[in-house]
This record gives sequence, structure tokens and C-alpha cells, in this order.
Amino acid sequence: MDLTALFKLSYGVYVICSKKGDKINGQTANAVMQISSEPPTIAISINKLNLTHEYIKESKVFSIAILAQETPLNFIGTFGFKSGRDIKKFDGVNFKLGTSQAPVLLDHALASIEAKVIKEVDAGTHTIFIGEITDAANLKPGEPMTYAYYHEVKRGTTPKTAATYVKVEQKPIAKGKYQCSVCGYIYDPEKGDPDSGTPAGTAFDDLPATWTCPVCGASKSQFEKLA
Ligand code: FE
Repeated sequence: MDLTALFKLSYGVYVICSKKGDKINGQTANAVMQISSEPPTIAISINKLNLTHEYIKESKVFSIAILAQETPLNFIGTFGFKSGRDIKKFDGVNFKLGTSQAPVLLDHALASIEAKVIKEVDAGTHTIFIGEITDAANLKPGEPMTYAYYHEVKRGTTPKTAATYVKVEQKPIAKGKYQCSVCGYIYDPEKGDPDSGTPAGTAFDDLPATWTCPVCGASKSQFEKLA
């Protein structure tokens, strides 16, 4: 069985938000699908370990922000590789409280959808929440980011808690590459790091000490040399 076949499934990249009392949280996700149009319903798959899962269970509401193709990696990383238990994800981020009272992300979002949970399906590590759409809006024109674009062009990585995470055996890699021990991002000197303005051909050792992982924000010292 070759689970990398699953990489050919196509997805978007989204931030799903919810609330619990007056607390708010959000996380990146790609497992979002419309179920029906009459009434309009949508399904999301959320890892039971994630704080957003706890919030949706409690409040029975969630919002979905459909991210634009040009969304920076570190924005996706903040919502995807860090826990709302450790950081305030919404600091410095534009959002509003939607009609459902769930936070609706405005930065880098092409459109927003709000829903109230009408059914929960226990799927082992994840819960599939099926929601009836209660509000939806187009926020700005642009191309939505696809999961393939995130991986192939942005060279983003996938947290282990994602519904679509597939463990890939590490292949031997040319020397000079360093891997983030937090999120798995690989710094390739042949490609540099366009997000921080680091040109192709820059050796890892020549990156400034202040350089951080473009996906998750980990420090340079948290990178490990790949043999
Ligand atoms: Fe990282």
C-alpha cells in the first residue's frame, strides 16, 4: 500500500475558528467539504487533540476562512503549528465576531463561511463536524490557495494532527539542507527562502541568527542538519 497516493487528492487551505465562552481559537485545516445545498451544509474534520475541537464541541459553531494563494507561510504556520493553549493566535490578526459569534478571520481570507453543528461523527482520531451554513460572504477577489500549491510552490509542511497527514520515509537528501525539528520544513540552500528575502544559493550557516523557520517560526538553532 502506497499512502502517498493520497497526495493526489486535492484540497484547499483554510483556517477554522470557534469559540468557547469569550475565548476564541482557530487552526489551519484542509479537510473541508460541502455536503449539500438544500439546506447548505458543510463538513470539517478536526483532530480531537486540538483546542479548536474542544471549542466546537462546546459552542457548536465554527467559521471557515478560505485562504488566498499568496497567504504567507508564517501566517499558515501560526494557525497550523502552534497551539492556542500556548500562544494568542489572534494577536495582530484582523478578525471580526460573526453572526454565529465565532471569530471570522479577515486577513488573507477570500471568503468566510459560518455554520452551526447539526451532527458529529466520531472518526477515531478526528471528529467530523457537519454544520448547517448560517452565514457566508465574499471578502476579496483572488485565487484560493490549494493544498498542492501550498506543498509544491510554497513548500509548506503538514502537522501530524492534520486529517491529511501522511508519514513519508525520509529519503537521502543532498548535503547542505537543514530541517526544522518542529514542523519538518526543509531549508534548501539551492532555493533560499523567498519569504524572508534570502536568495537562492545562501548556505544555512550564512543565514542571520535572527532567521526563523518560514512555516512555524522556530529559531535557527532548532534546525538539524540532514546527512
Ligand atoms: Fe518549522
